[in-house]
Amino acid sequence: MSKRIGVIFLGPPGSGKGTQAAKLAESLTIPHISTGEILRQAITEKTELGQQAQAYVEKGELVPDELLLGLIQERLKQPDSAKGWILDGFPRTVAQASFLDALLEELADSYTFVLNLAVPDTVLIERLMQRGRQDDTQETIARRLQVYIDQTAPVLDYYGQKGTLNHIDGNQPLDAVTAALTAVVTPG
Ligand code: AMP
Repeated sequence: MSKRIGVIFLGPPGSGKGTQAAKLAESLTIPHISTGEILRQAITEKTELGQQAQAYVEKGELVPDELLLGLIQERLKQPDSAKGWILDGFPRTVAQASFLDALLEELADSYTFVLNLAVPDTVLIERLMQRGRQDDTQETIARRLQVYIDQTAPVLDYYGQKGTLNHIDGNQPLDAVTAALTAVVTPG
């Protein structure tokens, strides 16, 4: 039996999923695969991917699938993913979720947990305004939240129907969120 742990981390922008996913990855010693981080690094390094993705990221739009799907495929095939992985920021559409299902099947892998960090909209906006990332301007924040509602929230239903979705209250102190997540991922 495989002991891999595959965690899919869902949650709106500003829910704290990046921070929590990084902590969880460290405690489980598995890679934290954040598509947003990969894109931001590519933009900073001005790679081909970065140049193609930049305008989308800056506007708060989703980057086209053709820039991301191959990248996820390659990343999950890396040897360090053999023990498990945490996906943060992917899938962000139902189409990406079904791509991921097919990919995992091809790799004879599977996800173990789907976690959603739930945080009220008013709190999200407050947090994003304070964060000060380059794509955290007022206009981009509004667009990212709308894109989340339109394109990413349906992903919750996708996993909900499969009965694999765990909701965690993300509107509590950071350590309490970590404890709640850890309790789901490492029960007993
Ligand atoms: P994040 O760090 O997850 O908030 O992502 C930052 C930005 O990267 C998003 O606003 C999108 O422009 C882009 N991005 C990250 N993940 C994806 C994805 N799975 N599909 C499309 N665009 C993405």
